[in-house]
Amino acid sequence: MGEAAAIPQPKPGVMDIAAYVPGRSKAAPGVRLFKLSSNETPLGPSPLARQAFAAASARLEDYPDGSATALREAIGAAHGLNPANIVCGNGSDELLGLLASTYLAPGDEAIHTEHGFLVYHIATLAAGARPVVVPETDRTADVDAILGAVTGRTRLVFLANPNNPTGTYLPIGEVRRLHAGLPANVVLVLDAAYAEYVRRNDYEAGIELVSASQNVVMTRTFSKIHGLAGLRIGWCYAPAHVVDALNRVRGPFNVNAPAIAAGAAALADRTHVERAVAHNGQWLDWTSQAVRALGLEVTPSVGNFILIHFPDEDGRRAPQADAFLTARGYVLRAVAAYGFPNALRMTIGTEEANRGVVAALAEFLG
Ligand SMILES: *Cc1c(COP(=O)(O)O)cnc(C)c1O
Repeated sequence: MGEAAAIPQPKPGVMDIAAYVPGRSKAAPGVRLFKLSSNETPLGPSPLARQAFAAASARLEDYPDGSATALREAIGAAHGLNPANIVCGNGSDELLGLLASTYLAPGDEAIHTEHGFLVYHIATLAAGARPVVVPETDRTADVDAILGAVTGRTRLVFLANPNNPTGTYLPIGEVRRLHAGLPANVVLVLDAAYAEYVRRNDYEAGIELVSASQNVVMTRTFSKIHGLAGLRIGWCYAPAHVVDALNRVRGPFNVNAPAIAAGAAALADRTHVERAVAHNGQWLDWTSQAVRALGLEVTPSVGNFILIHFPDEDGRRAPQADAFLTARGYVLRAVAAYGFPNALRMTIGTEEANRGVVAALAEFLG
């Protein structure tokens, strides 16, 4: 036998993964917490979603509907999509992982951009494939750079639009140009987790592009605007052949019953969604301007968060700001793992939270 001391080894790639570190959720002891670290909504979920969740607790002994039919039909109705082209997941993170494990084999390549969402890197390595990281321009995905990185081994391109943690986006014309330049056997994954928040005439989440092609998938989530991050609900809209492949690979009951019920109910509450969009629009603008007025650079964002850049000066850098804010209950997100060692990402919160962060930053900069 030899190798008596050997222990089981994960397949190649797994030990190259730096485990995802979620946003912190604790302030200093005794200090009131304002959690602005994971892009959750300050408005919480719709009361209709809470009621549906509570009602589902009466039947926890039953397996959920493995095809999440009620949820897919509600999504289809809300977005004008054929439910047959929708796959639901345990958060959109699960779908991103499923796309990687379905389309990537060892030796294959998946492209994501320099400051792209970290889950793409992790999912690619977990599938045993090679992540190809492409530079951005002005902290924004660069279509020519992505197309220039395509090789005969490329199987997937991941694009968060808008991107987290930068908050920048590509207009739909640029997304179309990207798609037009990709070989037909490459899947373009458009992660539109923040689509509902975007107020730009040249933005589209990608629904028409999915409908009109065979190699585009759009992923969405209930974790952000719908305020259901704790339930883990995501979905994708994809061509029939992709749906067929994902349904073979996914867990048979990957979305739980309370999640199916609450997600469908959340979609029915348009007023709640509109309120969340309006709140974010107002406070995204206010907070961006107020932080800039303190002399800090803020990357222009179309999402529900902003990336704040700190001066390269002793005592005024991002880690010190993070400690200062945390001591006062304002928990933002350190983003060194995204290539921003001197920036913090702040989720747009309640009026009280936003004003509180700006006041604390003013004090910090002194
Ligand atoms: C928050 C976020 C998601 C959503 O993840 P879930 O697993 O659905 O909670 C997906 N993509 C990006 C870019 C995000 O920021």
